[in-house]
Amino acid sequence: MMETALFVAWFEEAARLVRADRDRLTRLDAAIGDADHGTNLDRGLTEVLKALADTALESEAHVLTTAGATLIRRVGGASGPLYGSLFRQMGKVLETPVTLAGFAAAFEEGVVAVERLGKAALGDKTMVDALAPASRALALAVRDGVGVRQALDQAARAAAEGSKATIPMQARKGRASYLGERSIGHEDPGAASAALFMTALATVAG
Ligand code: ADP
Ligand code: MG
Ligand code: MG
Repeated sequence: MMETALFVAWFEEAARLVRADRDRLTRLDAAIGDADHGTNLDRGLTEVLKALADTALESEAHVLTTAGATLIRRVGGASGPLYGSLFRQMGKVLETPVTLAGFAAAFEEGVVAVERLGKAALGDKTMVDALAPASRALALAVRDGVGVRQALDQAARAAAEGSKATIPMQARKGRASYLGERSIGHEDPGAASAALFMTALATVAG
């Protein structure tokens, strides 16, 4: 269903989308954080593409663990270790050949790793508010037996809706939580970038 080249293409497309939206992500972070999310991720994904090009990739899982380790090492902000854990944990459990069910299960474990590291839950106004709905959409798609393309479209839509749903939330984790009620009324930058990751996957698989 999904092969090594597709996973590499996922990171290439994510890097492209983050580059195109770098200033928007940084503006979102300027409102409730420290105005570096766009540049953090742009730089991190540039490093990921370099690492993927320099590595003899043995499997889909190896793409994910390479990307995850690079993000953990190269992104200074909170988002580096969090995204890094997502992809590294996915890579630890993903089996070849990759099926939709296997991918959905690995994604779910990756999201759990993010929740554990960040001590964040749904509703805390973080990337989890985009990632967890995407994971649920994938699980429902597996249950309902829908095709890969439709499943990834639904996951991307769920992530985008989840990101918009952070606007009225008060942040309980990360820098934005320091603002208390003043964090209300702004979209969370990490949720917005998580939606870009899911859009990137739907795009390359489509
Ligand atoms: P920093 O806040 O260190 O500057 P970034 O700006 O790159 O890092 O990333 C900020 C994003 O990271 C937030 O918008 C949020 O989505 C996510 N984030 C921050 N802290 C947590 C946490 N404890 N759990 C989950 N996600 C978090
Ligand atoms: Mg920041
Ligand atoms: Mg920072």
